[in-house]
Parts: sequence; structure tokens; C-alpha cells
Amino acid sequence: MNKDITKRIDSLREKINDADYKYYVLAQPDIDDIVYDSLMKELEELEKEYPLLVTPDSPTQRVSGEPTKKFNVILHDVPMLSLANSYNFDDLIEFDNRIKSVINETEIEYVCELKIDGLAVSLKYENGFFRKGATRGDGTKGDDVTNNLKTIRSIPLKIHKGSLKDFEVRGEVYINKEDFLRINEEQETRGEKLFVNPRNTAAGTLKLKASRVVASRPLNIFVYYLLSKDTKLNSHQENLETLKEMKFPVNNHFRKVKGIDEVKKFCDEIDEVRDSLPYEIDGVVVKVNSIAQQELLGNVAKSPRWAIAYKFKAKEKVTKINSITLQVGRTGTITPVAELEPVFLAGSTISRATLHNFEEIKRKDIREKDYVKIEKGGDVIPKVTEVVLDKREKSSVEYPEPDKCPVCSTKLEKPEEEVYIYCPNYFCPAQIQGRIEHFVHRDAMEIEGLGSSIVAILLEQGLIKDFADIYTLKDKRKEFLAIERFGEKSVDNILNAIEKSKEKPFEKVLFAIGIKQIGERTAKLIAKHFGSLEKLSKASEEEIDDIYEIGPSIARSVVMFFKDDKSKELVSKLKKTGLKFELDSNEKTNLNDKFVGKIFVLTGTLIKFTRNEASDLIEKLGGRTNSSVSKKTDYVLAGEEAGSKLDKAKKLGVTILSEDDFEKMLGL
Ligand code: NAD
Repeated sequence: MNKDITKRIDSLREKINDADYKYYVLAQPDIDDIVYDSLMKELEELEKEYPLLVTPDSPTQRVSGEPTKKFNVILHDVPMLSLANSYNFDDLIEFDNRIKSVINETEIEYVCELKIDGLAVSLKYENGFFRKGATRGDGTKGDDVTNNLKTIRSIPLKIHKGSLKDFEVRGEVYINKEDFLRINEEQETRGEKLFVNPRNTAAGTLKLKASRVVASRPLNIFVYYLLSKDTKLNSHQENLETLKEMKFPVNNHFRKVKGIDEVKKFCDEIDEVRDSLPYEIDGVVVKVNSIAQQELLGNVAKSPRWAIAYKFKAKEKVTKINSITLQVGRTGTITPVAELEPVFLAGSTISRATLHNFEEIKRKDIREKDYVKIEKGGDVIPKVTEVVLDKREKSSVEYPEPDKCPVCSTKLEKPEEEVYIYCPNYFCPAQIQGRIEHFVHRDAMEIEGLGSSIVAILLEQGLIKDFADIYTLKDKRKEFLAIERFGEKSVDNILNAIEKSKEKPFEKVLFAIGIKQIGERTAKLIAKHFGSLEKLSKASEEEIDDIYEIGPSIARSVVMFFKDDKSKELVSKLKKTGLKFELDSNEKTNLNDKFVGKIFVLTGTLIKFTRNEASDLIEKLGGRTNSSVSKKTDYVLAGEEAGSKLDKAKKLGVTILSEDDFEKMLGL
């Protein structure tokens, strides 16, 4: 046997195993899927050619991924398999021919479904109650992520319809594209590592130990498989319809088709519209519809013979980085940006792509004048996936990490455990401009008409120095009008929008003032909890940290903000403008002292309320719900058949409420 072949096989296995660990266990892949798939393909081909070299532990023979050891392990009664992959239509025809050779029919009936780009989970129900939820893991055992799955509101905790009581449901947990972007923005504000894509975010989130962080990241699920000994279903379509009747979230874009040509038609149609879907898909899953035929076909090592994933080609192009520029954010973060030779990709022209941070540049060894591959999935931000090294100029040099702010020349700083470099100068013009742009943004004070170029002019002309000065513009109408380009109408529109922004509720004002790490949601939680800026400015780190879903680093950031002389000055200037620095009286009346800031855990079966109703009421009245009992829990609302949570609450001396007690608290 050729030694080189053995060596290559070993090296491929090592690379794949390493990538698997980073992808499945750490949820932090460091190579792209296409690269991974090409390694796997090469290994599969070599093993086909040299079958003697196939070992049972080869990555080609097993479902990848292992339980993380952070959670209890759950054994799968029926193995959770992966899917065979195909990237072109010829592979699908081959798949169809293989099936026809076993089934002996001229046209096979298939069900085509979207291949949701998330991670597979299993949900086990006993006596109609959701009992346990697990990740796929290595296919035979996965992580017990029941508590995290319970944060997904669309998973029914109790089945009200249908006669099935004991069964398992399988599906895909995912995160919407929009939520992915928001979560990454928040990661960026906190100086934390960015997620690569929505799948990665969902996987990383589901494997978090802190359920409160999980609850703040909106996970979703689509289910696609029902397993039960108590019912006999004849087709996959019937399986999906039954799941729908049981009120599980089933993706609507599935279609029963006859013959492989119709499969192709479905794949093409979906490829056309995939960018417009709110979630990411990476292909279409094609399944033989008849269960009897599925049983006849059986499984190979790690995937069923009766299904195949048709993966869409990644939307990728090669272009040149003309230069790398540095952007200074409102909190001083320095972000390197690739200025690209414009290319048209997946519906838009791309001329810039963020390179995130300097660790990323180093890891991918990205340099100016390099040719790079640009990829775009759905409408998610374009990313530079790799450098085309063959095209690199001989004279090329590594891109140096800057030591001075490109705007104000202040010496840059890098906090120890962060990946970002910062300009520490609060008065750096780029930061001033950034803070104002954030303040007027439609998610904050929503001052229409004050776009970035107008803000720049106002700063340049000295009409404003910070965002508080925006409210003095009405007294400078003449000067405003004197600026070339501005007519009466546009100036008045802007001035009206500024006046109107005074109606924005306290939570928006709190978000707008731009405290580091305070995103929209956090601002809302804090505003509700403290009720006014006065109270918040006097709060200690512990008091802020005590709020459900708020962690110590956010608490520290808030306290630091109110200690800082520059922010104090800004806040006192703003106070004179008539903005809302406390909750409106109608918002306050919604709050109930018995609930404000209290943490509730719901357990057992509630009779008078659904769980969603109870949690909504608690949240509306100023409380929070959590999925596990701890010392911080104030109340456990226990319904029938409450189990271990009730025991734990008793042990910790947490107040236990019956549904009647809860009703009394509500004043019903
Ligand atoms: P897969 O993602 O190719 O396909 C199988 C999975 O599809 C199932 O387990 C299920 O979770 C999912 N799925 C989504 N919609 C479905 C539907 N409607 N019906 C059935 N299943 C559905 O296989 P995999 O084993 O989960 O992952 C392998 C892929 O992951 C590789 O091809 C590669 O692209 C990627 N990967 C990348 C790295 C890396 O380092 N970049 C490492 C490991 C794996």
C-alpha cells in the first residue's frame, strides 16, 4: 500500500476530527463548511478506492459531534443520523436511481423540505408532557438541554390535541437572520467574539449553561419527524401533518412530489427565494414519502438511504482588496474594513466587508491587494472567507496592527480579555459623531432627517458638540438655514422631528445615551426595573446585576458611566431638554410592587393559566421568569405534578405559590 495514501488519510482524519470538535463541541468553527466538505469528500473517495483502510472510527463512518460534558447525557432510543450530501443535480439523479433499483417503481414519491441551517434536537414527551430535550451529539447520545429548549415558546409543554401521549419529536433549532445580526451587534458592543453565522449562534446558545442568557436570545424550532410506537403512519407527509395538528411548528414550505424532475423544480424554486426567507437554509432535504419504502431501504453507517440533502452552492466570488481602512465606532472600537473591488453577489454589489478585528486578520492572514473569496449567505453580511494565495503579490506584507487612532492619533488600548482594540479618547471626533448617530437612530430617539452627513456638517460648523446640543438647534434655526443645501422645509422637518423625539419613552432615552454594552433589550429591562434615571444613577453594581438577564459586566459598565464626569455633564445637559428620564405614569401603573424585580420559576402543570399566559403576566407586571430554581429565585409557582424544581425550592426555602396564591397576588 502506498505510504503517502495512508499518510494523507491520517492527515485528513485528523483535520476533520479537529474541525468536528470546534464545530460541534465548541460551536466555534475555524474553517468554512465548503473547506470541511471538500476534506470529507476527499477522504470518502480515498476510502472507496482503498476499502482496507476504512476504520470504524473514521469520520466517514460516524455521525459527528459529541456531548459537551457540560450537561447530563441523554441516550437516543433511535439513533439520530446525519444526511448524505449532494451539491449537484447529478448526485440527486444517482440517489433516485439507487432508490428505484431497490423499490422497483418508475417514479418515486418524495417529500421535499427546506434544510434549515440550525442544529438537530430531540424532544421526548411522556404522558403528553414535554420531559426531556437533547442535542444530536454523536447520534447515540446527546446533551440534555431541556431547560434551554424550554425557552422556545413554540415548543408545547403539554399536548392538548391528539391521542398520542408518549412520543419523540425531532427538529431543527435555529435563529432568525435578523436576531443573529442583533446578537452580533450586542457581542460587538460588549467586545466579545462574533458568531460566524446564525447556525453557529443557535448551536452556541443551546449549549450555554446560563439559561438567562439563552432566554435573551430568541431560539426557534421547526420540527420534521414524529416517532411513536402508539401510531402507525404510512407516509412522511402524514407524519408532518400529524405534527401540525399537534400544534408543533412545522415549516410550511414542504411539498409532496412525484419523480426526480419535480424534486429539481422544487430545489430551483427554493434557491430563487431563499434570500427572502427570515431564517437561513442551506439546501433542500429530499425524503422518500412512503414509510414502508423507507424501512425497505434502511440506513448506511451514518445516514438513512431514503433521504438526501441537496445543498445549495455557497454564493461566493473572488475579488481584490484594494485597501484596508479603519473605522472608529462610538465606543472607540477600531474595526478594520476591506475596501473591495466591487463585485455583484447574491442580489447586491459588494464593495466593503468588515474584517471584524485584528485577530481575525491575523488568523486568515489577510493583506492589502490580496485576492479573496467573498461569501454571502441569505441577506447576512458578506464575509471574507479566505485569501487566494496563488494570486498574492510577491511584495505583499502583513497588515500591521495599528497603535494610533486613525482619526485623533491617540495611542490605542487593548483590554486583556477582549479581541478588540479601542481608542480611549472620549472626545475623538469619530466617537462624537458615532454617539450622535446612535442617539438619533430610528431604534433610539428616531430623529428623521439627521443622517450622518448632516451630523458631520453640524459638528463641523460648530452648531452642535454632542447629542444634547441637538435640542438647542431650534434656537439656531437661522444658522442652520445658512448652511448651504438646507431649505426651510428640510430644516423645519428636522426641527419637528427633534421636538417629537421628546415623546420617546424612558427606555429609548436610556438606550440612546449610549452606555457601553446597553443594547435595546437591556435598556428596557433596566428602565422597567429602576423606573427612573435618578434611581439608576444611584444603583450599585450588585443591584443592577440582580436583574434577571443582566450580568456583572453590564452592571459595571452602567456604574462606570454614572461615575464618569463627562457622562455626568452630558446627562445634566440632557435633563434640561425635557426628555423623559422616568417611566410614564401609565407604564408605572402596569407595574405591581409585588412583582417588580422578582424572579419566578414555573413548574408542573398549570390549570388556570397556560405557562405563556402566566409568564406574560409576570413580565408585564415587572417580574421575570427563569427556568431553574436558585438562591435568587423569589417564587416558585407550582402546578400539578411539580417535580424536582419544587423539591429544590423547598430545600432552598424559596416561597412556593399555588395557582390560588398567584391569583391573589394578581388581585383576582
Ligand atoms: P448536515 O447539516 O449536512 O445534514 C444533516 C442535518 O440536517 C440533520 O442532522 C438535521 O439537523 C438537519 N436538517 C435540517 N433540516 C432538516 C429537515 N427538514 N429534515 C431532516 N434534517 C434536517 O449534516 P451534519 O452532520 O449536521 O453536519 C455536517 C455538515 O456540517 C458538513 O457538511 C459541514 O458543512 C458542516 N461542518 C462544518 C465544520 C466546520 O468546521 N466548518 C465541521 C463539521 C461540520
